[in-house]
Amino acid sequence: AEITKPGQWVSLKAKVVQLWDSSSPNVSQVGLIGDETGIIKFVIWAKSGKGEVEEGKSYLFRNVVTDSFQGRMQVNINRYSEIIELDEDIKLPPREIEVVGALVAIQQNSGLIQRCTICKRVMTKGICPIHGKVEGYDDLRVKGVLDDGENFYEIILNEENIKALTGIDLEKAKKIASERLDKNAVLSELKNKLLGRYLKVRGTKGGRYLIVNEVEFIEGIDKSAIDKLIKEVSL
Ligand SMILES: [Zn+2]
Repeated sequence: AEITKPGQWVSLKAKVVQLWDSSSPNVSQVGLIGDETGIIKFVIWAKSGKGEVEEGKSYLFRNVVTDSFQGRMQVNINRYSEIIELDEDIKLPPREIEVVGALVAIQQNSGLIQRCTICKRVMTKGICPIHGKVEGYDDLRVKGVLDDGENFYEIILNEENIKALTGIDLEKAKKIASERLDKNAVLSELKNKLLGRYLKVRGTKGGRYLIVNEVEFIEGIDKSAIDKLIKEVSL
């Protein structure tokens, strides 16, 4: 839902993300609700006489009023509003997390790879698993395992991430491969530069993989410091 202006009557489907304690007798409930597009504060006024919402449940909030409080948008539920519990589970925005850990493994299908021009899947020896023998294009990626001392994270670094860390972009990778007459030379080079190094990675969890948005090297930290550095950076 797009909420940008105060004083608008809107209806929205959202999940209750969090309930806060309220010290005000005028407030029945206050907290956060959200859908795929974002999270917003909500207030149910005591005077509205509306039933209580529960954390983790999804509702249709009908005829609620947008408001701006201390520069942030919120929605207010008043006596003209309706709150209807939904059977569906409203999805929240993907959570971005930050992990600091050592890159303990780089998988074999990393480095200079070929992707299918139709579906972008990685091809093996010129064969797409879906489309068979088709035209491919070169790409650079690293599939690796990051260990933060507590968990393993499977991460995928794209060309941009790899370039930021190693200075090797797709053009340079192709040059390395052609100079040494070996595609695997790129993988060896990347392993030399990345394996065992500490990385700070910021990304979103998509299935089993952590899709990396930003990555940088971390130098000279011990394990207890790493543990402390693990934190969630946003809701
Ligand atoms: Zn394909």
